[in-house]
Amino acid sequence: MTTDIESIASSFLSELSRWEHFREVRDLLDWDMRTGSPRKAASLRSETVGVISDEMFRLKTSPRFGEYLLRLQDPGVASSLSKDVRRIVALEAREYERNRKIPQERYQKFAVLVAKAGAIWEEAKETSNFALYRPYLEQVVAMKREFVDYFGYREHPYDALLDEYEPGMTVAKLDPVFAYLRDETVKLLQSIVNSGCTLPGDLLVGDFDKASQRELSVQLLEQMGYDFEAGRLDESIHPFQTTINRFDARVTTNFRAHHIDFALFSTLHEGGHALYEQGINPEFAGTPLSAGASLGLHESQSRFWENMIGRSMEFWQAYYGRVQTLFPQFRDVPVSEFHKAVNEVKPSLIRIEADELTYNLHIMVRYEIEKSLVSGDIKVSDLPEIWREKMKDYLGIVPGDDATGVLQDVHWSDGSIGYFPTYTLGNVYSAQFRHQLQKEMPDYLNEIKRGNLLGIREWLKEKIHRFGNSEDPVDILTRVTGEELNAKYLVDYLNEKFRELYNL
Ligand code: ZN
Repeated sequence: MTTDIESIASSFLSELSRWEHFREVRDLLDWDMRTGSPRKAASLRSETVGVISDEMFRLKTSPRFGEYLLRLQDPGVASSLSKDVRRIVALEAREYERNRKIPQERYQKFAVLVAKAGAIWEEAKETSNFALYRPYLEQVVAMKREFVDYFGYREHPYDALLDEYEPGMTVAKLDPVFAYLRDETVKLLQSIVNSGCTLPGDLLVGDFDKASQRELSVQLLEQMGYDFEAGRLDESIHPFQTTINRFDARVTTNFRAHHIDFALFSTLHEGGHALYEQGINPEFAGTPLSAGASLGLHESQSRFWENMIGRSMEFWQAYYGRVQTLFPQFRDVPVSEFHKAVNEVKPSLIRIEADELTYNLHIMVRYEIEKSLVSGDIKVSDLPEIWREKMKDYLGIVPGDDATGVLQDVHWSDGSIGYFPTYTLGNVYSAQFRHQLQKEMPDYLNEIKRGNLLGIREWLKEKIHRFGNSEDPVDILTRVTGEELNAKYLVDYLNEKFRELYNL
């Protein structure tokens, strides 16, 4: 490598590291806002976050940064760079191009619009007034369609939006996978509903001491191999995981006095995200490689721990004793009943309260609507009606108002169109990984039963976590499982699990 290129590469990497330091500050402020900074501090704090975000945006869209990318992408130069630096250049170039395609003036207009739309959405949801929200959502959709034209696409306009959350994913790939999953899930759900068999979900309702809930959450995170010296557990209204830096992957949960399952499974879910972050090769710290490969892949890790491990019989055979010790009301409840309770299937209106089986149907409703909105096949004004129809077709229930229907999610108000599919992708990926784990570690269920989760955690780290964002999600999936996206494993897993639980 010539010294000239060496010095460009090193300036480029130090710009990125500077950006990472800004990000660390911003994300720490954000974490603080969501976990208990004084209410009155919020408005000034938002301004601070805004100033830092502006600096970050400026840094990565500056002519100097563009010049670095141009030089380092030169085919004659690229071959002399290390594989990791080439990957970093490719990732940054992708983002740089994307940012530059939208004229600054349109981008600013969009930022103002979504700030307003967010506030209106809150009010509309509270009063169940879709008419109030409609003109704003119409503008958001119109602007996203305009952005799609700037970004460009090969087959379906929605691909241009999907790509932002799940690089390489397209409608052509998703449609057959999702349609199969949807039809099979609807079939299974109908068999469950028609069977008349019910599981004792009400066992999870009662009075649960919050300090004991916290104790249980901490114990389970420790069992999973979560490193408390490189993270912490706090409480927030909506549970989340955030990575402040490579050695600070934080988790939050929410302890509900009358529902023991909420904090429990939120902790396992967010803990799954955190294990991914804690498992990334430490040498990637300060670069864009020190992150998950995509939202879908991240979600595969959280769902794996929450559902495939955390709702398995073996998990509770190992850990139910702790529940009984902390919550004496379970003393006479056998583990088999508790296991049934945490797996109750019940069609419900609200996505974030949905069970493991019906959750994906909520995503199908949103995916199909988003796709048609972006292609222009449906209008925003038709949404409440379309929502009700799809809920009836897939879940067999219809919301009585728009607050529990089309208005329930924040995503569209902030312009996050194309995000929802990553939740179900996470479930599909996780079942593919589980299938592979079963092949390579046939004894893994017995390990869980013995209370040893560390072998599984190691497997995930070795196969997935340590690579961070050094590979595209599709490459990780095919490297680990030998296959591309395939919903068969999720469908098989769901059928096997719920047919047994419901005696079908
Ligand atoms: Zn998640």
